[in-house]
Amino acid sequence: MSSSAARRIGIFGGTFDPVHNGHLRTALEVAELLALDELRLVPASVPPHRGAPLATAMERLRMLELAADANPGFVVDDRELVRGGASYTIDTLRSLRAELGAAARLCLIVGLDAFAAIDTWREWRALAEHAHLVVVQRPGAGLALGEEAGRWAAARLAGDPAAALAGAAHGAILRLELTQLAISATHIRALLAEGRSPRYLLPDAVLDYIRENRIYTRAAAQTGDTD
Ligand code: ATP
Repeated sequence: MSSSAARRIGIFGGTFDPVHNGHLRTALEVAELLALDELRLVPASVPPHRGAPLATAMERLRMLELAADANPGFVVDDRELVRGGASYTIDTLRSLRAELGAAARLCLIVGLDAFAAIDTWREWRALAEHAHLVVVQRPGAGLALGEEAGRWAAARLAGDPAAALAGAAHGAILRLELTQLAISATHIRALLAEGRSPRYLLPDAVLDYIRENRIYTRAAAQTGDTD
């Protein structure tokens, strides 16, 4: 297979508790700008850097499926849920690389807030041996990398993302400027817990599912604490 014909696969991991339009708009714009063949949304089983999600793994998976249904290029990849335990991105990249072959362009999408802590990820230097890292701006997030991670990132930063992607299957850091949507799952959970509406911050189908299953309101209901 010639390098120009190599498949381009985006990988967007997260807790997705719940998935929202900040994720989906990011995924769509990256897919367009990098001419991706497929964008995989990968829910984490137990995210290593944060507390347990409020929704169950199956609920987070279902919400992603409902969101992905609207876009034929989006695929929900449940390998971290199937694997169970702490979800390390390096394990996911190794497993995708083994499955998709050496020529595939793997593009790991990381928000700037997550990228700023990249040197806390397991085997973080090895991430670029399996994928390109696509770093996307997030409202309110600044970039303050540690010294070693800063040097590592600077050495890999691509001046021309399209050329870097055409030329290699992994190894570059691609910075993309996208539409900024100041939406977070934390804010959506807080709105729901207060009895307010998060409508237009996430797909209607996801919100309907959340309401039907009382996903972010059931703890208050269970304790009888509705204040
Ligand atoms: P929480 O508020 O629960 O921490 P979150 O909204 O940050 O959740 P995650 O599932 O933790 O969502 O994020 C997964 C990935 O999506 C991360 O790389 C994060 O930087 C990115 N991301 C989340 N929200 C946005 C947004 N509004 N714009 C761009 N990237 C985002």
